[in-house]
Amino acid sequence: MNFEYSDKSKALQEQLRKFMEQHIYPLEKEYKTFTRENPWQIFPEMERLKTLAKQAGLWNLFLPKEYGSVSPGLTNLEYAPLAEMMGRILWSSEVFNCSAPDTGNMEVLAKYGNLSQQEKWLQPLFKGEIRSAFLMTEPDVASSDATNIATSIVQEGAEYVINGRKWWSTGAMNPNCKVYVVMGKTDANAARHIQQSMILVPADTPGVKIVRPLEVFGTLDSPHGHAEILLKNVRVPLENMILGAGRGFEIAQGRLGPGRIHHCMRLIGAAQRALELMCKRVAAREAFGRKIKDFSSIRQDIARSRCEIEQARLLTLSAADKIDRFGIKEAKGLISMIKIVCPQMTCTVVDRAIQAHGGLGVSEDIPLSEYWIYGRSVRIADGPDEVHMYQLGRNTIKEWM
Ligand SMILES: Cc1cc2nc3c(=O)[nH]c(=O)nc-3n(C[C@H](O)[C@H](O)[C@H](O)COP(=O)(O)OP(=O)(O)OC[C@H]3O[C@@H](n4cnc5c(N)ncnc54)[C@H](O)[C@@H]3O)c2cc1C
Repeated sequence: MNFEYSDKSKALQEQLRKFMEQHIYPLEKEYKTFTRENPWQIFPEMERLKTLAKQAGLWNLFLPKEYGSVSPGLTNLEYAPLAEMMGRILWSSEVFNCSAPDTGNMEVLAKYGNLSQQEKWLQPLFKGEIRSAFLMTEPDVASSDATNIATSIVQEGAEYVINGRKWWSTGAMNPNCKVYVVMGKTDANAARHIQQSMILVPADTPGVKIVRPLEVFGTLDSPHGHAEILLKNVRVPLENMILGAGRGFEIAQGRLGPGRIHHCMRLIGAAQRALELMCKRVAAREAFGRKIKDFSSIRQDIARSRCEIEQARLLTLSAADKIDRFGIKEAKGLISMIKIVCPQMTCTVVDRAIQAHGGLGVSEDIPLSEYWIYGRSVRIADGPDEVHMYQLGRNTIKEWM
């Protein structure tokens, strides 16, 4: 394994760092104030920033090179440090068209969509003209087991009729969210893993009702949000089915691998910045006649955090490298490992940084509370920790029994 970044990745890292310093960090506070005071409105500077990013070639960086001319041609390993940089300011990934859940949905459409689906939805997503949401989780069933998903997708003539209730549909509150990838059951009597399908539902289809935005630890995550959505007799043409009825699990396998690794890369960036903020704070402040940096407990917290971030970073790079060289299936174990390790690591490191900042740590003046909320949420989103441990444990035992 060689984790030396390629020249291409190094050049892009330098370019992205400069772009963020010039255009994004100066707007960090303004973005926060605007989104708090104007829920569900797009930050007025966002389109200008996206145009600048496009012009700079910092666009769709997440899209691996096998996607040909629409991809900037990076491997997952080359993309990792770039995603890490974006994780330092959580909203910044949208500027580069690299934010969830659009990245996962774009990969689904690029990999499994037919030509008309790609024309209608993938092209505007690639260009950053629209946003999308992924509707799998349901309030009425334990959705960490996707075989439970109960939304029905029934064929009637030339249409599918969809009925169900979804929640935690990230991005669905965004005024630019125009399409949903919906998971539901097309055949409840089929074998367990071929009952589910994924289908495209335009957000303005009659029968789609946004019930409410959900709060995450008291925050709205505006402008993207997480919606509860009722689908009542929603009718879409047969051609909206992705890949074919009964192929939902197959698609989910392909979708969640890269998505999970991107979350982990961003979380490492958040944890790294938390550590840097902590070092600056304790070096500048005094208590009981000493700089806070000189207390042994603080140094231990900083040392532990540095070790844990580097361990998580190397594990994530290892997963990225394995995906690049052998594919998602072969990298399954490492993807589970990073999904277990990174969000927990971020919560631990950020918690130490919060403590070292005192009252400032929990305030809105610095991003630590956002980082903690992100880390804590990812311990549940894309499959709770326990589900990944359950599977990793099972597969590890299988290898050695
Ligand atoms: C901020 C956020 C954003 C999200 N975004 C999306 C999105 O865009 N689209 C979408 O479809 N969903 C999204 N989700 C939903 C998320 O994927 C689900 O919440 C998750 O899969 C768990 O499903 P559940 O909530 O039904 O919990 P349940 O399935 O009810 O599980 C509850 C708990 O049971 C325990 N448990 C479950 N299985 C096991 C096991 N095998 N071993 C031990 N313990 C176990 C775990 O502690 C688990 O947390 C999001 C969630 C959050 C918090």
